[in-house]
Amino acid sequence: MKKIGLLLLIVLALLAINIFAIPSSGHSKQTDIADFKLSVSYTVEEGAKVPEGFADTVKKAQMLLAKVFRSKEFKEALFKQSYNDSAYSKSKKACFLVVYDEKTGRISGEAVYQNLLKEKEVKLHINVKNNGDKKGTLGASYACNYQFTTYDYWLQEKGELARRLARHIAHEFTHIRGYRHDNKVPTPFKWGRDVEEDPAYGVGNIVGEILTAWSKKSLI
Ligand SMILES: [Zn+2]
Repeated sequence: MKKIGLLLLIVLALLAINIFAIPSSGHSKQTDIADFKLSVSYTVEEGAKVPEGFADTVKKAQMLLAKVFRSKEFKEALFKQSYNDSAYSKSKKACFLVVYDEKTGRISGEAVYQNLLKEKEVKLHINVKNNGDKKGTLGASYACNYQFTTYDYWLQEKGELARRLARHIAHEFTHIRGYRHDNKVPTPFKWGRDVEEDPAYGVGNIVGEILTAWSKKSLI
């Protein structure tokens, strides 16, 4: 009996080795995109306000954005784009893929797409904050930090909050994946909020357009 027990142990050990030996690179394959999952949680800081039913709105936004990220429309729209380097090639962070054309300094939309969807499951956390009278920006995020800030003033505006929130999350998530605005770029090269040049505004815009199109067709 002891021998059988030992044999069983060896078999189990071999099985375990085999299971853990499966390469993790398979996770980033595009064929997995149908399984892409997004979950978004939030906290409301003292002094900040969210509208009634905000928990449901966040859930809806999370569902809408996951649906867009999995869609062929999103892939097609992004693959047609090419963006400014957005200074991310100089970043020292390592949680994202640095793919850009060294000759032109451009980032292909395809690279942005793969960077956004390189993980099968993404968990984000929103800190809702009161930003006083400042109304220039919807939120803030940093590369590789899955928690980001959303300012509360625009959450009170009426109409399609889940869609606007989905678009905002997409924008901040693009920053989390390393793509920046032009703040740190020399003046002659600034591209502002141009959706054809700035990856975060570009991705947000594509998400917004797809959601508007789906809404018109009553698909969402
Ligand atoms: Zn931004």
